[in-house]
Amino acid sequence: MKHYSAFAVAREALRYHTGWERAWRSPEPKKRYDVIIVGAGGHGLATAYYLGKNYGIQNIAVIEKGWLGGGNTGRNTTIIRSNYLQDPSAALYEKARGLYEDLSQDLNYNVMFSPRGVMMLAQTQHEIRGYQRTAHANALQGVKTEWITPERVKELVPIINLDGPRYPVLGALWQDRGGTARHDAVAWGYARACSAMGMDIIQQCEVTGVRSENGRVVGVDTTKGAIDCDKLGMIVAGHSGQLAEMAGFRLPLEAISLQALVSEPIKPCMDVVVMANTVHGYMSQSDKGEIVIGGGTDGYNNYTQRGSFHHIEETVRALVETFPMVSRLKMLRQWGGIVDMTGDRSPILSKTPLGGCFINCGWGTGGFKAIPGSGWGMAQLMATGHSPLTEAFTLDRFKEGRFIDESVAAGVAH
Ligand SMILES: Cc1cc2nc3c(=O)[nH]c(=O)nc-3n(C[C@H](O)[C@H](O)[C@H](O)COP(=O)(O)OP(=O)(O)OC[C@H]3O[C@@H](n4cnc5c(N)ncnc54)[C@H](O)[C@@H]3O)c2cc1C
Repeated sequence: MKHYSAFAVAREALRYHTGWERAWRSPEPKKRYDVIIVGAGGHGLATAYYLGKNYGIQNIAVIEKGWLGGGNTGRNTTIIRSNYLQDPSAALYEKARGLYEDLSQDLNYNVMFSPRGVMMLAQTQHEIRGYQRTAHANALQGVKTEWITPERVKELVPIINLDGPRYPVLGALWQDRGGTARHDAVAWGYARACSAMGMDIIQQCEVTGVRSENGRVVGVDTTKGAIDCDKLGMIVAGHSGQLAEMAGFRLPLEAISLQALVSEPIKPCMDVVVMANTVHGYMSQSDKGEIVIGGGTDGYNNYTQRGSFHHIEETVRALVETFPMVSRLKMLRQWGGIVDMTGDRSPILSKTPLGGCFINCGWGTGGFKAIPGSGWGMAQLMATGHSPLTEAFTLDRFKEGRFIDESVAAGVAH
């Protein structure tokens, strides 16, 4: 893999950019791999990357039915934060946020991490109590967040309307090292690094069956033929239920469409991320100038990548209350992704009833921020059988009633 650098850009400029090589290979699958990862989203690719980097396991195939990063990883609103309430969540999301800080250097690929600050508005007394409690919990967990006053909110976001018609802004939970990153670049950066280690990323190849012998996984059936493996990681977000069925077990998940939209590009007007959970809308401004707006989940299970129209109306109405200038924006694009929601709004990173088969799913509306930490923990779990980062997030917790309730932290789609 050629190193990306200012020198390389200058060199290629002088020779009309003829020397760049493809960022990753597109090989045909081999007969057998040590590890197969199903799903080339951020979590699948990060798991493969840390298996190679941290454990030297590089005979890996990442199998993707569409194109890499084309699932939720390329469809999200890119918010990164770690201000969760429960200890296992804070540890996992803070690990991820920390890795994001120098991910561009680690991958030699600019993921455009922008720690511009994330603000969660409190607009009811109940939210004040909830967020102040989270700020205290975060202090104990070593996660840097603070409770800020409405005056400080206004200083940080001059375009905000503090005196909304229904819900005034009463303060906010502020994480100054939260922010955003370029979602495609995260997938592309991991993919390039995986390919450079000799791993095969096989796109346009759907896994259609999971093969097992004596209670242990031995391979998968795909649209490009059968492939053998010793270990299997199923990391397919909204399609996790289908994969689990192929492997012979069920998951406590539902698949729902979650949507987002962006406006036309405008001049810089907001340099932080603002989330308004009570009125249910959140927004940030992309480097191109578009206002990136997150909407809600459909009220019924589906596999569309669009989402229902009434959500756009509700989301925009909520934002106009908080940011009246939004009423003058033209919206450019709208889309949806199929998210995988658990009852306690926390992910599943776990062994499964099938030997050698692991699952990483349930990130629901908020897994982009977790990609590096999840990949780190999942790789450790798959390589060694145990990871302190993932141990609370097992499938068994749903049988044993050990829920990791993050319904407040994950209350608004993000
Ligand atoms: C509109 C929207 C906004 C969001 N905003 C945020 C946000 O601001 N911050 C945040 O942290 N999170 C956000 N999220 C959530 C985040 O995008 C996801 O949690 C995360 O991207 C999940 O990554 P993944 O790798 O698990 O799944 P994906 O990126 O969906 O990857 C799974 C891959 O598996 C593939 N696949 C499925 N079935 C098969 C099969 N049978 N064979 C082979 N391949 C298969 C799919 O094609 C897909 O590419 C948002 C999500 C949406 C939809």
